[in-house]
Amino acid sequence: MPGHPNCVFCKIIVGAIPAHVIYRDDKSLAFLDIQPLAPGHVLLVPLEHFGDIRQLPAGLAGSLMSVIPRLAAAVCNSTGATGLNLLQNNGPVAGQVVPHVHFHLIPRSANDGLGFRWNPRSYQAGEAERVATALRAELDAR
Ligand code: AMP
Repeated sequence: MPGHPNCVFCKIIVGAIPAHVIYRDDKSLAFLDIQPLAPGHVLLVPLEHFGDIRQLPAGLAGSLMSVIPRLAAAVCNSTGATGLNLLQNNGPVAGQVVPHVHFHLIPRSANDGLGFRWNPRSYQAGEAERVATALRAELDAR
């Protein structure tokens, strides 16, 4: 079986375990999340196994992103949702449970009870400049 032997999404991709598939092309597959935050919660995954977005080739990232607007419209129109969260977790510390790159499309409606909570902070004096400098250096190195 191609793909990562212990990966649940690779197994879905090859049909070894069932899923409610809603979309497939030559690079990606979309199916219903088995434990949805709301009905119509969809996962979009690349057919090729990559653990997280840091390993994803840019061209494949582009292919996946090109599908998102159409999927997002379908998710909202089919469920009656008036909004949607696009969520993509990387690493256990960020809440990633399945180590195969995936995008969550989560339909949202007024008073759906899902909530959305950030704990924003502020930069200290000089901190934003240091952070931005480090980021530019990393980008220049890649
Ligand atoms: P994450 O926490 O970002 O790694 O999300 C993984 C998602 O995969 C969770 O929302 C799970 O409900 C979903 N999931 C796990 N196993 C399956 C499966 N067999 N079919 C569909 N969705 C799954």
